[in-house]
Amino acid sequence: MVCGSLSVAGRRVSAMSTSVPPTSLSPSRANDFMQCPLLYRFRVIDKLPEKPSEAATRGTLVHAVLERLFDDPATERTATRAKAMVPHQWDRLLGSRPELAGLFADDEGGERLARWLGEAESLVERWFGLEDPTRLEPAERELFVETELDSGLRLRGVIDRVDVAPSGEVRIVDYKTGKAPRPEYAQSAHFQMAFYALVVWRLKGVVPRRLQLVYLGSGDVITYDPVLADVQRVERKLLALWDAIRRATETGTFPPRPTKLCGWCDHQAFCPEFGGTPPVYPPAAPRDAGQDRAE
Ligand code: SF4
Repeated sequence: MVCGSLSVAGRRVSAMSTSVPPTSLSPSRANDFMQCPLLYRFRVIDKLPEKPSEAATRGTLVHAVLERLFDDPATERTATRAKAMVPHQWDRLLGSRPELAGLFADDEGGERLARWLGEAESLVERWFGLEDPTRLEPAERELFVETELDSGLRLRGVIDRVDVAPSGEVRIVDYKTGKAPRPEYAQSAHFQMAFYALVVWRLKGVVPRRLQLVYLGSGDVITYDPVLADVQRVERKLLALWDAIRRATETGTFPPRPTKLCGWCDHQAFCPEFGGTPPVYPPAAPRDAGQDRAE
């Protein structure tokens, strides 16, 4: 509980407000906190709106195509068929999220949209050089997973594809529409894979045989074959992270941590590193930080 109107370490704190500690984490939001605590706050606690971007929306579109393609019989899962699905899936996406039309509102001749759809088709086509969908029968697609650790922390996320071999071995596959990171920036990719290894181990009692990130932007596949010690290590790391997030939530201390990634941040106008002032903390009607988006 915070009483009175005061200023603490350069941040404005509201009167008679209560902070709500987090109860869940997704890989994306855990990565946010590790990258920049203030970014985590803006997204999870302040819930500041973010503009849809062409890159992120193209990723959503490509994911939809790769998921829906498995509705067809194996022999019909061709690159031609998948590319032809792109415009239809774009229409479906617009139907469920009409605000995305704003991305191309000023595109009078439709050239930018056509180029963007063409880029999505190229990403879809590249996938066929990395995997062969005629030989795959996923056990799950776009699978929402959630598990609770003994400490009470809930881990949640969405797994793009789960393959189960006749031997029972499990492979977790995640599609990325960007390029594979250089080794020095691969930490968050490895963290995401370890996160899902832990969730699957907790849910099914088996450590996945393999986790696989498929980078359509660069045509790379990164794999990771975890062992039990790896998932136990990531569990300890997540618990430490959760403690740090809870402390930050209780004290309202979310320092900005500027990096090159600030260029992608939608919230520079509120960030002290860019001359901005964060909103009053905590928000007047604080959101349960446990309602972490699973992305
Ligand atoms: S601009 Fe950079 S430092 Fe500021 S909140 Fe965004 S990611 Fe953090």
